[in-house]
Amino acid sequence: WANVSTEKEKTLAMIKPDGVAGNYSDVIKTAIFYSGFSITQEMLLELNEETVRSFYAEHATKSFFPSLVQYMSSGPVLIMVLEKVNAISDWRNLIGPTDANKAKVTHPNSIRAMCGLDLQRNCVHGSDSPQSAYREITFFFNKSSSGYVSRHDEL
Ligand code: ADP
Ligand code: MG
Repeated sequence: WANVSTEKEKTLAMIKPDGVAGNYSDVIKTAIFYSGFSITQEMLLELNEETVRSFYAEHATKSFFPSLVQYMSSGPVLIMVLEKVNAISDWRNLIGPTDANKAKVTHPNSIRAMCGLDLQRNCVHGSDSPQSAYREITFFFNKSSSGYVSRHDEL
């Protein structure tokens, strides 16, 4: 159904503390624009531990969770809303696999391969589904300024 596949989509992207500290923000934003995304919202901030726990609640029972919370609250992050057709899966494909060390082998042109350090410090975040994108965008930005219309509330 042509109308569905050509509809613009939003996703939440984040440059994590290692990416901001490593001065990768500009090169990542260049890759974002070069890949056809628009940045519709942007905010640089430091997440406190409580905010990270809430953002990553799905991982609360994992053994790496305490370390993840510490890492994600260790310095400023750059949070962006990206928009384009197929934004969610296209951004996930552009950032590459979770483990930056594996990404260097299997997806050498991905952002995590270029900027990430290891399995935890992988430089960037991307929403993994329309439901996650909606949750994560409205986690950081208010609904009306995010441009969501009422039908998205069903996601
Ligand atoms: P992704 O960010 O690719 O969606 P996950 O949602 O599985 O990956 O995990 C969230 C984040 O937690 C990862 O990006 C990474 O920073 C960290 N992480 C995931 N798995 C591990 C692990 N086994 N050990 C350490 N950190 C991890
Ligand atoms: Mg994830």
